Amino acid sequence: MARSNGKDRSSSHLCCVDDDADAKAAAPSHIDIPRIEKAIREVLAAIGEDPDREGLLKTPNRVARAYAELMAGFKEDPRLHLRTVFHEQYDEVVLLRDIDFHSLCEHHLLPFTGKAHVAYLPAGRVVGLSKLARLVEGYARRPQVQERLTTQIADALMEELNPVGVACVLEATHTCMTIRGAKKPGSTMVTSALRGIFKENPASRSEILSLMYGSTIH
Ligand SMILES: [Zn+2]
Repeated sequence: MARSNGKDRSSSHLCCVDDDADAKAAAPSHIDIPRIEKAIREVLAAIGEDPDREGLLKTPNRVARAYAELMAGFKEDPRLHLRTVFHEQYDEVVLLRDIDFHSLCEHHLLPFTGKAHVAYLPAGRVVGLSKLARLVEGYARRPQVQERLTTQIADALMEELNPVGVACVLEATHTCMTIRGAKKPGSTMVTSALRGIFKENPASRSEILSLMYGSTIH
């Protein structure tokens, strides 16, 4: 059986096969790997494939581990990332732009990926910037819809930090739309959730949105 060492990578499509590394990454305890494996074998059989042919032998296990990774956040409470706060008298906007995220649309279990822009106007409580990225990641790694992902991020910040305002904008490409169904490659879905001053005050809202899009307006 072909292995994914450096030599045969160039001659066959094995870019995604790294069983050694995958096996080391333990799946979260709430994910039943053997059960997913069984289901994937069934899928392969159902489309008329032979799940026992050489190239597919390890596929159910690889798919199970990939799902485990993509849905690792399901039992996680991403709000925990916001519990380490610093008390700072900083009353200007904190914005983290272009946070890459990868999620799974809950209607098709196909990936949707994109960028999140997250901002808040603190009222004495700030968190480390990496925590904003972890917050996005925690809510993204589960079966999701983009609208809910956007509001969950905004609500978590609003409720945990009690800031003057929160703005969260997500731009994503949904493979359930680009590679199947309507087949609209290049289409991007944009969702936003505004809270506090960014919702109530039009001047603050346009200020935060122009800050988010800044020089990258497209
Ligand atoms: Zn979908």
